[in-house]
Amino acid sequence: MNARRGWIEVVCGSMFSGKTEELIRRLNRAKIARQRVEIFKPALDTRYHALDVVSHNANSIRSTPIPIAQEMLLLAGACDVVGVDEAQFFDESLIDVCVQLANRGTRVIVAGLDMDFLGKPFGPMPALMAVAEYVTKVHAVCVCCGEIASYSFRITASESKILLGETDSYEARCRPCFLDGMREKTTEPLSAAAKH
Ligand code: ADP
Ligand code: MG
Repeated sequence: MNARRGWIEVVCGSMFSGKTEELIRRLNRAKIARQRVEIFKPALDTRYHALDVVSHNANSIRSTPIPIAQEMLLLAGACDVVGVDEAQFFDESLIDVCVQLANRGTRVIVAGLDMDFLGKPFGPMPALMAVAEYVTKVHAVCVCCGEIASYSFRITASESKILLGETDSYEARCRPCFLDGMREKTTEPLSAAAKH
């Protein structure tokens, strides 16, 4: 029988909701408990720093960027705790990799956006939430009205699902303010055309 017991924790929410902060907090506590910790992030997330996982309030922790989730199976062999940030950018194989790690006895903590900029479930996150023992949904503050925010509203016009950006590209918004913004976006081209 496996002496160690593994499990999966998911920390999800919109942009600026504190997912990375919460991930760093849990991993630092594991380090205090003298556990072996490794943090991975998708190689495409190069915001701020190529190697560190950095939160919006500048907390950071050293991480390993990997191009595909399977690399974790090789690199996390001796770990007690594995953290994954920006998990939404990995493909669906991340789900099986996390399950395999947990089955081996590893504690897996996965942080990622639960919804994309259209408010749709993002990549492997919904399935990870299904197989996890613990799911924590954290919230940002709506920049329009100050209510609790669950949506990442894209300010720029790009239609690409992956657009790395910060306060210049996204805003945290509550449901009504997100819906208002989406409605404005669809009527904008008409009103712009009407001006000419
Ligand atoms: P996430 O990983 O979910 O994008 P971070 O953990 O990187 O979030 O950053 C959370 C921090 O972002 C907060 O502690 C706060 O300092 C900052 N922040 C900026 N804008 C907002 C907002 N609209 N709501 C809440 N926190 C915000
Ligand atoms: Mg983050």
